Amino acid sequence: MPDVITLGEPLVEFIDKHKKGSLKTLTEFVGPFPSGAPAIFADAVARLKVSSALIGVIGSDEFGELLLDRLKEDGVDVSHLRVAEGYTTGTAFVTYSPSGSRKFIFHLRHAAAGQLSPDDVDEEFIASAKFLHIMGSALSLSPSSREACYKALKIAVEHGVKVSLDPNVRPELLSIDEIRRICKPVLDEAYLVLPSGEEAMMLTGEKTAEEACRTLIDEGVEIVALKRGARGSIIFTRDRVIDVPAFKVEEVEPTGAGDTYDGAFIVGLVRGWPLEKVGLFANAAGAISVTRIGPINSCPYLHEVEKLMATRET
Ligand code: ATP
Ligand code: MG
Repeated sequence: MPDVITLGEPLVEFIDKHKKGSLKTLTEFVGPFPSGAPAIFADAVARLKVSSALIGVIGSDEFGELLLDRLKEDGVDVSHLRVAEGYTTGTAFVTYSPSGSRKFIFHLRHAAAGQLSPDDVDEEFIASAKFLHIMGSALSLSPSSREACYKALKIAVEHGVKVSLDPNVRPELLSIDEIRRICKPVLDEAYLVLPSGEEAMMLTGEKTAEEACRTLIDEGVEIVALKRGARGSIIFTRDRVIDVPAFKVEEVEPTGAGDTYDGAFIVGLVRGWPLEKVGLFANAAGAISVTRIGPINSCPYLHEVEKLMATRET
């Protein structure tokens, strides 16, 4: 049985080669790349050699096969990845502007991914894990997907499985009040929260990322890992603040760095490492993932992260 389980949207992604910054402009897309925040997360964990599973729904088409092949090859447990007849696999088109901001068009809610429901959540499967990772994207995917997350949460709490939350809800998709409302049940039980600065402020209403992370700790979260892109990350606990420096790398494509960081951080916790090492390991994994294209394809292998870590330790 896998140590780390997540649930949510598997999808294939098409990336604008010319960084036009608009999805109305004629361009060329490169893809399909296997993607979706929970799929990237589960793959990152498996490549870092801790057992992981993805609960989700794909269509009976070649995009679904592509996802299944990638995840299986990397060692992700796909026994709870369902193929929904009559639905196509979720897709996303993404473009970047020269300033680095991103625009997405998703086809998820009415695709196979959005059909995730509480029936896909198996009590015995969740109960035997060490971590259940819940992502804002899965909470906002569709009402039935949200209910699936809440069911998994309830099982995790009942069986002492640690709960982690990445509140990666895209603010274009939901209002801030709505985002807070859907994340609240998970936040109330979360052992670990891994937000970006903007997400932490959005969740708490605080004016700085640091204040927001403090507030999350005051509200009962044990560990908050604040992701800061090229500036690395900061880990907060009740009595410690650990500023973890970034690794210097050449950024090629940033999508998936946050999910990879989440996966690596939880791998470090499962291994029982001190938080300094957990943070450095997660920073190294996130840094490697931005140096190459393709959200899942760019997830680092354990030997690559160890090699980058060694440059810091000597
Ligand atoms: P996303 O939601 O796009 O996946 P995120 O905002 O959740 O991203 P980031 O902060 O962009 O997450 O990235 C996660 C971690 O990866 C960072 O905390 C950092 O450790 C590492 N990282 C990301 N970008 C860079 C970079 N350009 N250089 C070095 N490290 C990086
Ligand atoms: Mg993120």
